[in-house]
Amino acid sequence: MPIKTWELDPNFRNEIMNEPGGEHLASCFQCSTCTLGCPITEIVPSYNPRKIIQMSLLGMREEVLSNPDLWICLICQTCTARCPQDVVVSDVLGAIRRIAEKEEEAGKLKIESPRPLFDKAFLHQLEKYGRLYDIGLAKEYYPKKEGSFIKGMRAMMKDYKDFGMRMFKKGKMGPKAILPEKIKRTGEVKKIFEKIGD
Ligand code: SF4
Ligand code: SF4
Repeated sequence: MPIKTWELDPNFRNEIMNEPGGEHLASCFQCSTCTLGCPITEIVPSYNPRKIIQMSLLGMREEVLSNPDLWICLICQTCTARCPQDVVVSDVLGAIRRIAEKEEEAGKLKIESPRPLFDKAFLHQLEKYGRLYDIGLAKEYYPKKEGSFIKGMRAMMKDYKDFGMRMFKKGKMGPKAILPEKIKRTGEVKKIFEKIGD
């Protein structure tokens, strides 16, 4: 991709480094260890976290914020464990994602990925029950992703038919996924969310 130097934003790196998690962006020396160990590259060979960091350091703000690859990191932390510069790549990517979400809230960007909807639905379950409640997550996520309750329920049934049963058989999804169960100290979890929301 040719770099349009006149479109570079030299302040973009500072914008990222001012976000929680983005602090170590400038420590990256482009060794590629993060990309070489990333499990996603086996499924999406074009995925390259090193390149996203390089583009961020160069100031390619628009290209980075609209890059769909920004949303596919699993936060498995393999790169965090291996990075010789302690960049904490997944946190840097999280910082960039937050900037993208702010841009969308301001009407300057359209995020195509459903990931922000999924993340919000996930956090709502933690806030409410103190643990993940899979069905609650699905009931919130699918209708928002599909644009209506009926379409959402259809998509949910299809996905659960495809992989839900496989997860169930492997013990990855048990009764706790179907029936909501609060942990005992939900009050303390609520306090954490209140603190984050400050
Ligand atoms: S492993 Fe660390 S230093 Fe190497 S390219 Fe990735 S983020 Fe940069
Ligand atoms: S945390 Fe994200 S970028 Fe890093 S290895 Fe895991 S999936 Fe890849």
